[in-house]
Amino acid sequence: MTTHHPDLSTLMSYSAGSLPDAIATVVAAHLSVCSHCRQQVQEAEQVGISLLEELVPATMSDHAKDDILALLDETEQVPIISREEQYVPNDADIPAPFRPLLGYYLDELHWRYMAPGLKQFVLPASGSNLRLLKIAPGTCMPSHGHTGSELTMVLRGSYSDELGRFCAGDVADLDPDVQHQPVADTGEHCICLIATDAPLRFNGLVPRLLQPFFQL
Ligand SMILES: [Zn+2]
Repeated sequence: MTTHHPDLSTLMSYSAGSLPDAIATVVAAHLSVCSHCRQQVQEAEQVGISLLEELVPATMSDHAKDDILALLDETEQVPIISREEQYVPNDADIPAPFRPLLGYYLDELHWRYMAPGLKQFVLPASGSNLRLLKIAPGTCMPSHGHTGSELTMVLRGSYSDELGRFCAGDVADLDPDVQHQPVADTGEHCICLIATDAPLRFNGLVPRLLQPFFQL
């Protein structure tokens, strides 16, 4: 049962297919566990279709209208990588849409030390726009703001900040002006999936991994 959801504007952008890929990935992960937001996205899609039907000139044939609507149905947000052969970990803590992208169980990841009680894993194929944070129980993160849009989903454990308590499945949809200081709750490590909308940076191996997606 999730209590913190993406903003309605984020869900509408998702249904329109206009979110940056990393942010869309976190929304898709949340939708897989939240029927409330799935409903919202469905309604937003219906509104989009009604608008289109009004905008399409009356002189256009029914056949042409059907073609356009069929095209819209096909427009789905694409995951950041789609490899032919992927290892899909059957990890209950990882939302299903995110499993092929991560390719590892949470406990298999090579976490990189960041600060006492804080480790991170950056998804190599995401241009560093998608990362996982692992926060030790009781760790207090420094108070910080955000330079751009950032969407965080809790995968395991929980944390609390000025906005409330965030448990597995919950999403924090933070505006750039929000200043907060998360503290991991005691008991177990808190693992979060975080998307930022900074531009993709291509280097080294990454373009090769991204090839199937961008059809380079
Ligand atoms: Zn939701």
